[in-house]
Amino acid sequence: MSQHYKMPRKYLKGRKQPKHCEECNKKTNELYQRIDGNNCSITYYSPYLCKSCYNKKYKKEFLNAK
Ligand SMILES: [Zn+2]
Repeated sequence: MSQHYKMPRKYLKGRKQPKHCEECNKKTNELYQRIDGNNCSITYYSPYLCKSCYNKKYKKEFLNAK
């Protein structure tokens, strides 16, 4: 088991949150980023999205989660 795996530093800090949706470029303070608990690099590179883009992009996963 790799319990003591050291995460690269940039993953701990996360990306700087933009002031707009990275999909439709709409300016909003309400941004959502998908968090992947098993893979910090997926989290790190997942885009910041407004609510509608987030729902559009991850709708399938929301439905599967129920
Ligand atoms: Zn958007």
